[in-house]
Amino acid sequence: MQGKIVKINKMLNRKEISAVELINMYIEYAKKINSDINAYIATVYEKAVTCAQKIDDIITNGGELSILEGIPMSIKDCICTKDINTTCCSKMLSGYKPIFDAFAVEKLQNSNAIMLGKTNMDEFAMGSTCETSCYGPTKNPYNTDCVPGGSSGGAAASVASDIAVFGLGTDTGGSVRQPASFCGCVGLKPTYGAISRYGLIAYASSFDQIGVLAQRVEDTAIVFDAINLYDYRDATCSNIARTPASDNLKKDIGGLKIGVLTDLFKNLNSQTDICINDALKIYEDLGAEISDVQVSSLEFALPVYYILACAEASSNLSRYDGIRYGYRTENFENIEEMICKTRSEAFGDEVKRRIILGNYVLSSGYSDEYYKKAEKMRSVIMSDFIKLFDDFDIIIAPTTASSAFKLGEFENDPVSMYLTDQCTVIANICGLPAVSIPCGYDSNNMPVGMQIIGNRFSENVILNAAYAFENVQYKNIYRKPQVGGDCLGI
Ligand code: GLN
Repeated sequence: MQGKIVKINKMLNRKEISAVELINMYIEYAKKINSDINAYIATVYEKAVTCAQKIDDIITNGGELSILEGIPMSIKDCICTKDINTTCCSKMLSGYKPIFDAFAVEKLQNSNAIMLGKTNMDEFAMGSTCETSCYGPTKNPYNTDCVPGGSSGGAAASVASDIAVFGLGTDTGGSVRQPASFCGCVGLKPTYGAISRYGLIAYASSFDQIGVLAQRVEDTAIVFDAINLYDYRDATCSNIARTPASDNLKKDIGGLKIGVLTDLFKNLNSQTDICINDALKIYEDLGAEISDVQVSSLEFALPVYYILACAEASSNLSRYDGIRYGYRTENFENIEEMICKTRSEAFGDEVKRRIILGNYVLSSGYSDEYYKKAEKMRSVIMSDFIKLFDDFDIIIAPTTASSAFKLGEFENDPVSMYLTDQCTVIANICGLPAVSIPCGYDSNNMPVGMQIIGNRFSENVILNAAYAFENVQYKNIYRKPQVGGDCLGI
């Protein structure tokens, strides 16, 4: 199934449309749609048109455009964009304009992709619904009474409604894959260490990873390849030789060994179960070998994630003290009061909850019992899980147990919301690449996602498997959302 980026690139090179016409169509579409879904919380339309003019100059001078030139993109609000508001959708960073671009943004801009705006998210990427944003929630383009998922909910909604061809999001415990699944798009969380975190505002540093959202697998692979590069400015960025995922995309998957993580199917909504089982039948028809697998330590994944993510968050967020950037309280007597009032006034409830939890599990007397135990358990889960790849090429699991929640469903019940991250946190705990792809719709017409997890640095393998499925099924299952979804009619 051909992606949109290749199609648009052909249209531009054949002069069927100019880069300025293209960007203006996207701008008009976004202006019409965004108020219904609140995916963009800041836009840079004028800048986008100026970039498009430069791209048209290349064509006028007889040049050939490379693959990402002129392609409209959205960037999640926790990824730094030079001179453009980057707030993590928190009052704490209101008005903050970084003086540099994140590595991934820099690479995409060097490829001449065009940013249209910054997308909405849960405050500091903490959440699964996009409702903790200080700019109000994003709505799901398939049903505006539902959430788009989180924390990269704005990114997923921008892609599903087609007010961006692709979006950059971030995934610490599922924040690219879960919204992709709720909004019927593809969401890739790369291997930890594949994409530089330089310029990504930290939530939980040992889990955080920048990821890609797009409507189709080929688009996801093209964007991933453009940012999957070594960067010395992130000490955790690996300098391993990288294989472009796009080269491997169309390979036959006959003989591919698939392990199905049956434990994660236990609490599944029945319609999600049916969609994923139908998808497994398609893999069988394509010649893959499918077996069930179990990992006994999996039951500890969720507590391990929430203990460690909160611990790291409490440390990372201690930098917001009202002194260096962002919000500062107005009335105070001394510096201690200033810091205390600044943090009390500018952080939302969910962020405060996680700082308190994080400080608790790190405090003396409790760190052995919680933080250190969780670190040890993380190693056990990691070695158990990585062993699976001795026998399997990919692991399939649900992305989420159900389709998108209703807005406000978890308002007074944060723990129940945490429990919904059950299927996604495992890839972050183990640092593995994972992609969520659309595999059907439930009876309420809401998208259902399926997750494919791979061994470290095997994005080319999981995207190949994702492409093979999409190629057979996309036309049969794709449904246009209620809001937008088809800016160009391609
Ligand atoms: N929902 C998870 C959390 O709240 C994941 C968030 C994320 O990946 N940024 O922590």
